[in-house]
Amino acid sequence: MSASDTRLLLRTALAETTERLGRAEVPSPSVDARALIAAAAGTRQPLVMLDELPAGFARELEELTRRRERREPLQLILGRAPFRRLMLTVRPGVFIPRPETELALDLLREHATGAVETVVDLCTGSGALAASVLDEFPQARVLAVEIDTAAASLARENLERAGPGRGRVLQADLTARLPGGVPAQEGPLAELEAAAGVDAILSNPPYIPPEAVPRDAEVLEHDPHCALFGGGADGLEVPRAVISWASHLLRPGGLLVMEHADVQGRSAREAAALIGGFDHLSTAPDLTGRDRFLVARRADGAPNPGSERLTR
Ligand code: GLN
Repeated sequence: MSASDTRLLLRTALAETTERLGRAEVPSPSVDARALIAAAAGTRQPLVMLDELPAGFARELEELTRRRERREPLQLILGRAPFRRLMLTVRPGVFIPRPETELALDLLREHATGAVETVVDLCTGSGALAASVLDEFPQARVLAVEIDTAAASLARENLERAGPGRGRVLQADLTARLPGGVPAQEGPLAELEAAAGVDAILSNPPYIPPEAVPRDAEVLEHDPHCALFGGGADGLEVPRAVISWASHLLRPGGLLVMEHADVQGRSAREAAALIGGFDHLSTAPDLTGRDRFLVARRADGAPNPGSERLTR
């Protein structure tokens, strides 16, 4: 096939695929159509660079288009998701990293005081935040915590690629017990507790309140619900555990940056005030101006007074 035939075929494929995805109510049909065509052609280059197509192109594109029409997330079809400067591996059954979460790294840079050399990522999922810290802070060592086995193993892969030998993943349930009482003798939470004194904690925990069920099929049918819904009447059960652990694990002056839903700015600050141990609490907006991140700085000295109260 000549180069101009190839281009004609690609133009037709782009028009048809965009049209089909549009009919299936895929939110960005033409962007997704381009990505599927590139995947079917086995290239990561712009389509205009293609002079020829592999033998099974049409069959492969048909298969990929059908999957996307059924609203399988593009990232799962491609097996990867961009996050900050990285291309992360993603897999069915593990929460797909979102672009809004990328802002946590900017907030860390903006608000951190002193060195950022030891960082903990709580509820790491695919390892997106932890891997980005490894990538962007070349001196940093990162400990990532994840409850789910499949996510923990994916996070290990993503961390190892971003910063070989500098990241570690613990599989643990942060809500199983809160820090500050009699220390655990063994197991992953004992290991986490022993990491106390870190410079920063990043977290994108599950936080959606029970009644705020996501509308997109991509989210509802493919992201694991334990990564979406935060538990309790306000969705803040897991986030409260994250804040308690942060209060315990941060060094004086250390920083917590935690994502939450746009309606949770005040309640996240209140939860942190109640847990205690912080001397600076604020809420940072995302790029659309909505309240999306708790930013909390660990105070000097003062053990956290309220972490046990919060479990009830
Ligand atoms: N941001 C997620 C969503 O929009 C909610 C859960 C999370 O990120 N922790 O579906």
